[in-house]
Amino acid sequence: MFLGLGANLGDPLAQLAAAVAGLRGAVEVDVVSSVFRTEPVGFREQPDFFNLVVAGSTRLEPGELLRAVQEVEARMGRVRTFRDAPRRIDVDVLAYGDLVIDTPELTVPHPRMAARGFVLHPLAEIAPDWRHPVSGKTARQLLAGAVGLERVERVGPLPGQPGT
Ligand code: ADP
Ligand code: MG
Repeated sequence: MFLGLGANLGDPLAQLAAAVAGLRGAVEVDVVSSVFRTEPVGFREQPDFFNLVVAGSTRLEPGELLRAVQEVEARMGRVRTFRDAPRRIDVDVLAYGDLVIDTPELTVPHPRMAARGFVLHPLAEIAPDWRHPVSGKTARQLLAGAVGLERVERVGPLPGQPGT
C-alpha cells in the first residue's frame, strides 16, 4: 500500500513528519521516500509543495484507510476549500495492493498519479518495480514515459528519517 503526502503551508517538512507519525497506528510504515519539492499544479499562485510517498501495510479496508488518513488531515487542521488549493497536509491513497476501486469516495490507484511528477519521483525512488494494476507499467516505466511533468527537485530525507 502506498500513500502520497503533500504540504505547502506553515512548516511543510514538520507537517510531513507529523503526518507520517500520525499514520502509525492505522498504518505500519515500512519505507518513507525522500522529500521532493514541486511547483504548484493547477492553481499556481501559491507556495511550492513538499511531497513524499510512504510504503506500508494496514489491516484496514480501503474505505477505512481513507477515513483514517482523512482523520490525520483533520487533526492537523486541514481546511478543505477547492481542488489544488494550498494545504497544511494532504494524504492520498495511491495504491492498495492490486485492488482497483472506482467509487465516488475512493478511486484506487489514484487517478492522477501517473501524470504527477511529485508522486512518480518518490514512488520510483522507493518502489521502482511496483506495477500499476491497470496499466501494468512499473513506477520506473511510468516516470520514464510521463511527458510534460512539472519540475520536481529532490530535497533530501525527511527530518528524523534515516537517509536514503
Ligand atoms: P486532492 O487530494 O485531489 O487535492 P482532496 O484531498 O480534498 O483533494 O480529496 C477530495 C476527495 O477525493 C476526498 O473527499 C476523497 O473522498 C476523494 N478521493 C478519491 N480517491 C481518493 C484517493 N485515492 N485518495 C484520497 N482521496 C480520494
Ligand atoms: Mg487528497
